Amino acid sequence: MKNLPEINHCSPNPKAYWCPDCKAHNTFDIVVKKTRNGTTWLYNCKACGFSSMFCPGETLPWKNGLFVFVGLAFVVAVPLGLILLSNGEHLNDSLAANLVHVLVGFGTFFGLLAWMMAHYLKKWSAWSSAQRRKSPEDLGQEALDHPFQPEYENSTEFTRWAEQFLTSEEVEQLHEKYGESEGGEKTAARIVLRVDEESRPPPPGPGE
Ligand SMILES: [Zn+2]
Repeated sequence: MKNLPEINHCSPNPKAYWCPDCKAHNTFDIVVKKTRNGTTWLYNCKACGFSSMFCPGETLPWKNGLFVFVGLAFVVAVPLGLILLSNGEHLNDSLAANLVHVLVGFGTFFGLLAWMMAHYLKKWSAWSSAQRRKSPEDLGQEALDHPFQPEYENSTEFTRWAEQFLTSEEVEQLHEKYGESEGGEKTAARIVLRVDEESRPPPPGPGE
């Protein structure tokens, strides 16, 4: 099946996972990755396999929070480091010096992470504001012309994807509509079986 008219993957939705390479809310494979710090879910774009699909609405507060943390870390670390140096202390032997090292280390790591998030969010903002200037008809045509078309499948991942745009009832209707051929066949098969059983002649009673 090609193109689901119910969901336009080219219409910007900050609550939906977006692929910065394909510039669309493509369907995805969810990969569960177990790390030492817990479990991470990766959303791999079905079109290009890019594993950093992200949800702009969720990433934005993280990026802002990280920038605040990084700012605070350097606000504490830089003056503290300068005080230690001006007192003639080496930056590797006191508790305060260790604190400077830890703050600079974490600040740099999270700073890079925040920078990366900002980079992708900038791509998102440029795309979403350009899309918002287009008419619904143009967006509809763009979705049809997009090289990747989300396709219906009876899977948890598809349901998770569709629920980003539709209510659970609407997703249910989507399953009924597109999953019909498979479900319909099963229902028909069950009916045939039941009819077969009922149409079987009853076993002869005793004495017949
Ligand atoms: Zn992609």
